[in-house]
Amino acid sequence: MQMIPKKTLTVEPHWQKELANCFTTIESLAEYLQLPALSTQNIEQHSKARRLFPMRVPRPFADLMEIGNWDDPLLKQVLPSSSEFITAKGFVDDPLEEQSNQQTGLIHKYKSRVLLILKGACAVNCRYCFRRHFPYKDNHLRKSDIDNIFHYIQKDTSLNEVILSGGDPLMANNKALQNIVEQLHTLDHIKRLRIHTRLPVVIPQRIDDGFLALLQHIQDRNKQLKVILVFHINHANEIGQALRQKCELLKAHGVLLLNQSVLLKNINDNEDTLCELSENLIDAGILPYYLHMFDPVKGASHFDVSRHKATTLIAEMIKRLPGFLVPKLVKEIPGQPGKTPIDLGLEP
Ligand SMILES: *Cc1c(COP(=O)(O)O)cnc(C)c1O
Ligand code: SF4
Repeated sequence: MQMIPKKTLTVEPHWQKELANCFTTIESLAEYLQLPALSTQNIEQHSKARRLFPMRVPRPFADLMEIGNWDDPLLKQVLPSSSEFITAKGFVDDPLEEQSNQQTGLIHKYKSRVLLILKGACAVNCRYCFRRHFPYKDNHLRKSDIDNIFHYIQKDTSLNEVILSGGDPLMANNKALQNIVEQLHTLDHIKRLRIHTRLPVVIPQRIDDGFLALLQHIQDRNKQLKVILVFHINHANEIGQALRQKCELLKAHGVLLLNQSVLLKNINDNEDTLCELSENLIDAGILPYYLHMFDPVKGASHFDVSRHKATTLIAEMIKRLPGFLVPKLVKEIPGQPGKTPIDLGLEP
């Protein structure tokens, strides 16, 4: 009798394998993308920024980047840079003042909806992330935390929407997500489940059979819980063939697809780029929702786009696109009742 090697018996979902195979060094990614050689000194300088925030780039996302181009707009979002050591006035660790939330894992800032920080980690580490200094380790949710969160949501009947965020909530496995959905089904006042995620953009395989079965289960229940998925896509090149196919499946399971972007200097702060993004989004069945002004997080000031430039870009989009393809330009201002729309100053 032949022994079956243990390895072939562990059936790991494909997306979790991709997570384990992320690029974590500039050298390995540069080799994969056949990028023109930089001096060792230059590489080292950039590599130092990995100590500020680890590098993490899934292979399927790297496959959307252009071969041989250091200036690729996707690469620039994830490549550690010596610019991250620049300290600029007003750029702080916690621009949104979220680090002192009382109930572990829950942020209730706005009326009618709560944000649940399900998982601290992400599949990709975006260099401009406003949560790059967030104490994620403290935010690891235990069973008792989840119980407390649901107790809170159950008591507050003015809530009608639960938003899963993070980190990236789809880092949680399907079983963990199913537990949340089961609990939500017991709460009559919750009408919507919103999931904010970048994971399917960087690893489309995350939308696997198990996740689709969960959506099917939600659809099959009598009580209508509407599922809304909000992607985080900043550039048209992030929408590959694999993601398009997954979007078809999500829509077939009754999921409404939206997108939020961050306005980023030298990545998407250009009217052609933004218009192409909106066109590609709607081609994939995704509606543009928000375009966020960059949050002033320490170590990322080189991504900042001025307010004047931002409003000029939106004004140009309004000229070129139907209204539903123009995202709302917003900024998160601590203490405000919701995301604050930026005044475009377009009234004659
Ligand atoms: C952005 C955000 C929400 C959702 O806001 P919408 O305007 O409904 O998209 C909810 N809670 C927090 C803490 C947020 O930052
Ligand atoms: S996916 Fe979102 S939360 Fe995660 S690192 Fe990127 S911007 Fe930050």
